[in-house]
Amino acid sequence: MSSINLVDLAEDNLRDEARRAMEVCNACRYCEGYCAVFPAMEMRREFSDGDLDYLANLCHNCQGCYQSCQYAPPHPFGINVPKAFAELRLQTYADYAWPQPMAKFFDRNGTLVTLLTALCVAGVIIALMLIQDAKVVFASHVGPGAFYKVIPWGVMTAFAGATFLFAILSLVMSFRNFWRASQRPATDIVRPRTLARAMHDIFTLKYLGGGGHGCNDVSDQFSMRRRYYHHFTFYGFMLCFAATSVATIYDHVLGLQAPYAFFSLPVMLGTIGGIGLVIGPVGLIWIKIISDPAPLSKKMIGGDYALLMLLLLISVTGLLLLGLRETGAMGILLAIHLGFVLAFFIAIPYSKMVHGLYRSAALIRYALERQEESEAHAAAQGKPKVKAA
Ligand code: SF4
Ligand code: SF4
Repeated sequence: MSSINLVDLAEDNLRDEARRAMEVCNACRYCEGYCAVFPAMEMRREFSDGDLDYLANLCHNCQGCYQSCQYAPPHPFGINVPKAFAELRLQTYADYAWPQPMAKFFDRNGTLVTLLTALCVAGVIIALMLIQDAKVVFASHVGPGAFYKVIPWGVMTAFAGATFLFAILSLVMSFRNFWRASQRPATDIVRPRTLARAMHDIFTLKYLGGGGHGCNDVSDQFSMRRRYYHHFTFYGFMLCFAATSVATIYDHVLGLQAPYAFFSLPVMLGTIGGIGLVIGPVGLIWIKIISDPAPLSKKMIGGDYALLMLLLLISVTGLLLLGLRETGAMGILLAIHLGFVLAFFIAIPYSKMVHGLYRSAALIRYALERQEESEAHAAAQGKPKVKAA
């Protein structure tokens, strides 16, 4: 069979192509030290659709196995594991989405997330101009409750609460769908030892380190920059989330209304997080621009850029709002910032954000499988149960 036929097959059936790649890799095993995918692959001789979905989400797209593969194109085998898995991952986002009709959102994800963002920003500005006097919008407001003089507290809370709670529900249901495909009981998720190991791998982004030297974004040269920019993005996001949570407690429990002083806890958390959420997305966008396109999935690129731009715009407008909050620009900046935040909340379960959910589920399953393999090995040798290495 020629390489052209193999590529055609890949476009026809994503799981067939991923299965073919895994069967070749399982015979070769040259890349077994690169990431969790290869040890997980070696535990199997056959690959069900559920196994492939799991392996695809275990892949962090470091591209190490592509750059070192002697069977990569132009070899007739045409093995391209990162690309095959990237395309299958996108399919799993649609397959496990909840509610299912929303799976269509992944078809043209970049376009739809961009359109949603534009609609939300325009919608919030138009609604603000309809419900509020222009003099109030463009006046400078200072002191506790200044933001609520422009956009009422109840309106802000209702939209943020409804969209965020729906996003959480949708993510929980999607996680459930993904886990069910593993045919493992839900109680396996909360085994303390394996959960602790998985959490370590998730929060350190261990496998963005490839085989220990980093990713091969541009060429066969290793680099840790993708891991570092991902850390800026992830921890920047978490700090911004912490800032919002602390502000909610200040407001609802302590009765202290925003805006808060610059050196208050929510503003400090938000500022540091916001700076991280500028550095991270800018770095990740830059890496995407200079990356070798061969191991990338064209279908995923639009959604990747759309989400990174949305995160960047949220942080930039949030920082601008902080700097200009005592000026007449505060009202319109608040509307623009909240428009981006609203788009983000709506898009969370139907954008690249879900990669964190499925990758976490895959890492939990991997920790379980390693533990069980370790216990089976110990039992075969007649030893007491041991911890996985
Ligand atoms: S990616 Fe290539 S080199 Fe690596 S295990 Fe698979 S076939 Fe072997
Ligand atoms: S691209 Fe990286 S993470 Fe994905 S399978 Fe290859 S080595 Fe593993």
